Amino acid sequence: MAVVAGIANKWSLAYGIAESLSREGADLVLTYLNEKQRDTIEACTGHLRVVKMLPCDVSKDEELVGLGTGLAELGRPVDAVVHSLAFANREDLSRPFVETQRDGFLLAQNISAYSFVAMARVTAPLMNRGGSMMTLTYLGSVRVRPNYNVMGVAKASLEASMRYLAYDLGPQGIRVNAISAGAVKTASARAVKDLSVILDATKEQAPLRHVTEAGEVGDTAAFLASDLSRGITGNVLYVDSGMQLI
Ligand code: NAD
Repeated sequence: MAVVAGIANKWSLAYGIAESLSREGADLVLTYLNEKQRDTIEACTGHLRVVKMLPCDVSKDEELVGLGTGLAELGRPVDAVVHSLAFANREDLSRPFVETQRDGFLLAQNISAYSFVAMARVTAPLMNRGGSMMTLTYLGSVRVRPNYNVMGVAKASLEASMRYLAYDLGPQGIRVNAISAGAVKTASARAVKDLSVILDATKEQAPLRHVTEAGEVGDTAAFLASDLSRGITGNVLYVDSGMQLI
């Protein structure tokens, strides 16, 4: 059974991941941010092996605890956890980074990085036969990508958190990794000013000459969730048509 957090709609990377996991036979628990999102997710995931939907706004400790309780009530081990969510104020993704204010900086860290640690804490005790956790990151963590700004810093924090979680949870047989996806036109990505410049550059310059598709990210997630990747932990896997080379 796999927990997938971060579907907003059928363009979400988490949706592509849920499709791949479901196709490979995983039962899914999907989380939702609010009731409106729950309805949207229900409308687009009818064909998937969804066994439960649980609320989880990661800014609320009680909902994180509720996620653990809701999963425990299912009485089944969790084998995989997918953290595919992030948030930053739109103005922090369009003005010079040096203008970032404390509240915007902390908001991005809280929702986009700390939440992975919090989700790991509530789900690890339910992974009693080991398993795989993963998060979604972007190249802006290690290189400057214009306008990615505060989110690049949050992704650096997220990747470091991933490594510390891999160290802590490895003895329990839980692997922890990150997928660094190329730019994909999702609701969140549209908040980054001049996203189209990155998409055009990818088509022209990336070794594979195409923009990343959610299905490519999904299939990598299925690999990471499966025993085929049993020797891999603490890694960042780039699924970006090779754009990280450029
Ligand atoms: P998306 O907008 O489809 O998904 C983002 C999700 O984050 C949404 O479901 C939203 O509800 C959720 N979220 C925001 N605040 C939340 C909160 N407080 N509690 C719970 N959920 C919350 O966009 P996406 O591009 O699919 O993003 C998924 C992940 O992939 C993010 O971590 C993003 O940074 C990462 N990523 C995206 C790209 C890209 O170009 N799209 C590239 C690399 C990495």
